[in-house]
Amino acid sequence: MRIVLLGPQGAGKGTQGARLAARRGVPHVATGDILRGHVRRRTELGAKAKGYMDRGELVPDDLVTAMLRDRLLQPDAARGFVLDGFPRNSAQAEALKSLLAVVGSSLDAVVSLEADDELLVQRLSKRVTCPTCGRPFHIEDVQCPDDGTPLVQREDDKPDAIRRRLQIFHSRTAPLVAFYEADGCLVRVDGDGSMDEVFERIEKALADR
Ligand code: AMP
Repeated sequence: MRIVLLGPQGAGKGTQGARLAARRGVPHVATGDILRGHVRRRTELGAKAKGYMDRGELVPDDLVTAMLRDRLLQPDAARGFVLDGFPRNSAQAEALKSLLAVVGSSLDAVVSLEADDELLVQRLSKRVTCPTCGRPFHIEDVQCPDDGTPLVQREDDKPDAIRRRLQIFHSRTAPLVAFYEADGCLVRVDGDGSMDEVFERIEKALADR
């Protein structure tokens, strides 16, 4: 199954994407995670992307689209994927459509995970992340249980960058909801609730389609 998770930062796409993918035995493809991996490994792509990411801006479409194409052409994505963080604007949505058309497929569902800005700002400002493995934690946690690394606040989870990311989401990414609604593959899910509640809501919405 080929699923896209759309939604603002802090709506829970990462957590829900990983669970949806695990249940279906397909990869969870999160473009933000892949980009942060490039920054950590100091690759050429990471060097180009870092400034945009730290400021909470979008990395240029050509870089992200080429990176995604390489990832979706890996054998493990042949049976399906849960895509999280892509597309972020209409050019990326068109690029994804063309990319899937080349391999003779299309999206099965687009889940729009919806939440109020207030809730998102609250959640994001309480998020800290392991700089080694990228896992997110709550601000009260001190070190990563997996590798012992002290947790830090992501540059783009600081207040100015959070505001910029939400503005970009509303102006560039939110219009994709209408794009996918017109395509007939959109399901809307309320993202306010516990991780388990939201997960069950998504599964139910997908089953009811
Ligand atoms: P995320 O973890 O999805 O919030 O992504 C973190 C950052 O990576 C974003 O704020 C962007 O700078 C960059 N990024 C991730 N996905 C994309 C994308 N599809 N297009 C452009 N930039 C992206």
